[in-house]
Amino acid sequence: MILVKKNLIKRIIIITVVINVVIFLAISAKITFEKTKEEFAKRMPSIPSFSMPLSGGSSKTACSDTSDYHAKILYARAKDATSGFGEMSTKLRGWFKSADGILNEEAKKFNMSASLKVFCENGEISITEVILPNTEKFYSSSSDTRGVLVAALTTLGYNKKNEKYIVYYDGSALGCKINGVDQPCVSQQTEKGPDDRLIEGNVYNLGPDYAFLYKVDDVTVQQYFGASYDMLAPVLILHEYAHTMGAVQSSAPHSTKKESQSKQKHCNDSPTLGKGGTDIMCKSDGEGEVFGNACSGMYPFVFDCNNDDYFNPKPEPGSYLATHWNLGSELNHFIQFGEK
Ligand SMILES: [Zn+2]
Repeated sequence: MILVKKNLIKRIIIITVVINVVIFLAISAKITFEKTKEEFAKRMPSIPSFSMPLSGGSSKTACSDTSDYHAKILYARAKDATSGFGEMSTKLRGWFKSADGILNEEAKKFNMSASLKVFCENGEISITEVILPNTEKFYSSSSDTRGVLVAALTTLGYNKKNEKYIVYYDGSALGCKINGVDQPCVSQQTEKGPDDRLIEGNVYNLGPDYAFLYKVDDVTVQQYFGASYDMLAPVLILHEYAHTMGAVQSSAPHSTKKESQSKQKHCNDSPTLGKGGTDIMCKSDGEGEVFGNACSGMYPFVFDCNNDDYFNPKPEPGSYLATHWNLGSELNHFIQFGEK
């Protein structure tokens, strides 16, 4: 009897020790994981991180036909890639509407409405599947995926002066450096030189231009941005599309001043998006950029913090946006304005 009891106590002790070891291992693994995540975030200071879901407000879709200026949404894939058009066309419509919602929320502050003009067919946002002439390997291994995609799209006739293209390329683009380290590109746009003239003939008031989103796996997006691709995509669309409409001019009061590869700049009056700021165009263009603390927070997103750098439908007479290129100006061919 005593022997049995002793054995039982022994067993209980062993089981308790094993359970404790397992708990200890689990906790230390979690700590290591959290630490790795923190280290990662430290190394990636300019990458947004979202903790809030994106609803993006609402807008009335500004459907346009071939006779007017508009965004045309393309789903593009290499000739040897499997088509994801069915699923992606639904997603793209949703992402675009959310992007449009962020813009419209900004216009509402001025008792106005604003919608991105977009090409529709039968009253619905049109998404076109484009099969590119080359292989997936050809595009992804190019040192300039954006360049070869633009060349292919141009050849296929997606080069109209009244169109700016929002392109989801269902493949990866390699070679975007973040802090000197090669990473897959998440999004990009075509670049033009500075033009801050408030005239209808401003170079940003004409197409063709291309705002690209690339296929990036969810783990990578989550790791870099702390958000799912679905949450991030509307912001990426509006960010890149705003670049193609001329945001942020280097003459703007809060444009990033550092030398940069990018000819279209960002703003620095609000912290980098998701890193304490809400302006979708504020982002570092170089080491040591100093950011102001206006429009801080995580949400809701704003389309020009204090409306003094790139978007203001009713600028004060004599102010920067009343005298320089302004995406909120009635001159902008690619946005439809109305009363709220
Ligand atoms: Zn940008």
